Amino acid sequence: CAPTFLGEKTFDVTEDEEAEVVPISRHRKQSARPGAMLPVAQAYDLLLEMCAKHATVVVVGETGSGKSTQIPQFLMEQRTFGGRVAVTQPRRVAAISLAQRVCWERKCKLGTLVGHCVRFDDRTSRKTRLRFLTDGMLLREAMLDPQLLKYSVIILDEAHERSLGTDILFGIVRRAQRARRQGRMPLRVVVMSATLDVRTFLDFFKPDEGEPEDPFHRPVAVHIQGRQYGVQVLYAEDGQKDYLDAAVVAAIQAHLEEDLPGDILIFLTGQEEIEACAELLEERARRLPAETAKLLVCPIFAALPAHEQMRVFEPAPEGTRKVVLATNIAETSITIPGVRIVIDTGMVKAKAYSATSGLELLQVVPTSQEQAWQRTGRAGREGPGKCFRLYPESAFFKLRPRTVPEIKRVELSQVVLQLLVLGVTDLQQFDFVDAPPRAALTQALFNLVALGAVRIPSRHEAAAAVAATATTAGSVSADAEAAALKKAQLPHLTDLGRRMASLPLEPMHAKFLLDASRFECLDHALSVAAMCSVESPFYTPRSARRDAIEAHARFASFEADHLTLLNVFNGFREAKTSKDWCKASFLKFGTLIKAKRVRDQLVAMLDKDSARKDSPSPPTKQEKTDDMTEDASEKLLRCLVSGFPLRIAQRLPPDGSVPGTRYRTFAEGIEARIHPSSSLARRDPMPEWVVYNELVLTSKKYLKMVAAVDQAWLMECAPHLFKPTANPNLSSASPGVSRDTSAKHDRRKSRSKRDGDASDSK
Ligand code: ADP
Repeated sequence: CAPTFLGEKTFDVTEDEEAEVVPISRHRKQSARPGAMLPVAQAYDLLLEMCAKHATVVVVGETGSGKSTQIPQFLMEQRTFGGRVAVTQPRRVAAISLAQRVCWERKCKLGTLVGHCVRFDDRTSRKTRLRFLTDGMLLREAMLDPQLLKYSVIILDEAHERSLGTDILFGIVRRAQRARRQGRMPLRVVVMSATLDVRTFLDFFKPDEGEPEDPFHRPVAVHIQGRQYGVQVLYAEDGQKDYLDAAVVAAIQAHLEEDLPGDILIFLTGQEEIEACAELLEERARRLPAETAKLLVCPIFAALPAHEQMRVFEPAPEGTRKVVLATNIAETSITIPGVRIVIDTGMVKAKAYSATSGLELLQVVPTSQEQAWQRTGRAGREGPGKCFRLYPESAFFKLRPRTVPEIKRVELSQVVLQLLVLGVTDLQQFDFVDAPPRAALTQALFNLVALGAVRIPSRHEAAAAVAATATTAGSVSADAEAAALKKAQLPHLTDLGRRMASLPLEPMHAKFLLDASRFECLDHALSVAAMCSVESPFYTPRSARRDAIEAHARFASFEADHLTLLNVFNGFREAKTSKDWCKASFLKFGTLIKAKRVRDQLVAMLDKDSARKDSPSPPTKQEKTDDMTEDASEKLLRCLVSGFPLRIAQRLPPDGSVPGTRYRTFAEGIEARIHPSSSLARRDPMPEWVVYNELVLTSKKYLKMVAAVDQAWLMECAPHLFKPTANPNLSSASPGVSRDTSAKHDRRKSRSKRDGDASDSK
């Protein structure tokens, strides 16, 4: 149904909150370079002056004013600051597209003077002086080089987004800046934000009480005056049941009825939605009257091949109008030229975490008011525009004013592990811009202890350690002894924890890989870890749905989704990474190539690890993997239990005559079902125990990436967590169900079922 929009209102989208602004006094001569006409060009002299006089400069400027593409180049050119420049981005798509854009502007090859470094894709070299990195990658660099000595300037871009990585980097760069105060080259920090709320950043970098007053270490803000035209905001009369459909209808209506030139930008929540919307739009665009301008649908999301992502930046050909389908990445991270109409679904995919339940969820939730204004602003960059909000005005006022920083709503195991590597053992004392909930830190530590990555000495052990040092050091005061005792009880990394942190994987994925040699399944585990690091390789076009489903069924394992992915990867290797084979199998070639590259890098990382560890080195050659023996798959599944001991779930007893399809997670006690995309969801009966990679909430709670496991393995592979008698969960596990219903038994049944199913598979 078409959304009806109520009366029009014109808003000036520039917020009126006053920032601490240093007025732009001088103007730089305009040169012929591509960014010369952007608003930021007026601020170069001021910026240079401020960066020379202050170690920390906060730059505020509207999206599109040229902060991300121009300021890094400008600072790199200032030889007086020396060294290299790092620019961090919360999103990998933004890091990649910015590096490419800057290379294009400078006419240089990616990876020479300018490059990007994102997880599993490093396009930098020794010569690279300007690096666009994801915030997570700079965090990894800091683990090896806590003072970030490689860089003279660190630019924390998109600071207003308050992503977890950027927030942690704030603390890290502040520490590095302090440590480098006395050195030859001070660390300059430039914080770039698209919203005027700079107070938080200025306060964070201001010198501590008691520190000597030094104007150089007093942070300042520079404001870039942007151009912004008025944007009419139109609200839907009612809330939309199906906002995807409403967005498509609104786009077609706007295209046909609005007397505005320029392109349309639709804000959606993720890849699946974007793909579905693209199909719907293309279908409806085909039915448009012949005399109207054509619609050119341009999706952008991380998994899209780079050259397709770049299509959104190209101007629409004569006689066509672009409709860009994007997530919140287009709010501030990337600026798409030519947009005059914005359609805002009002929704965003965001993480939410509750330490009490232990549940981290990626949920589609309403945006904040701040995000809504950012979206609106995208329509007014090149002329007056319109923004259609697919919700009523009353709903706007119910939105929370600002987005909650990510650090307050995510699971923190990986960050805590990284902080421990950086020597931050007293987590409460770390310089957080906004401290995470104490319970979330405690839970993260608990998880890391359960994985064997961290050890927290008991009071008794700590007292013994303090006593031992006291005897050698002579007598100490009671205060000093209390402090020493507190220190001795702080968490510390185990050798396993250090090795886990050295891999660019989440802690449980890292443990799974590091345990694989012990379970004699390293070759398979490497492929599984690589496949889990990329997006789904399956591709199901609407036009050939049946064929695609049939082709995919050939890879399906009813024992584990991990084995399904392994079958795909092995098939790809067997087919000598053939593009045609992928096409015939309805698999994404680019994704599988990426997985292969990731795997190669993981092999190299484990090689390094084993060189340090003196442990067996990973196989570099492919073992014969196509015909997985039952023994080989069991080894892999046991290894999964060892890697993911906190992600075990048990099937609940049948509900009356309805067979049991619900599971209860072991760690959090949450009820969930196996995700319908998993082959295991079609097993009858469903396995008694499963290990899963992810718990997600869409319309219901679902376990994703699931493998059937044997109850006995829990006790064997994670004896510290699973005890046959002491644990109420296990002792009450499946009353009346004998060990015969173990995964192994189920697997045999499912194998024969699969063999029978194969011919009539969906
Ligand atoms: P900011 O960081 O202030 O949001 P940017 O530096 O990202 O601004 O963008 C400045 C200008 O460069 C914008 O007008 C944008 O349209 C253009 N631009 C940025 N990236 C690309 C790209 N990959 N291709 C084409 N134009 C781009």
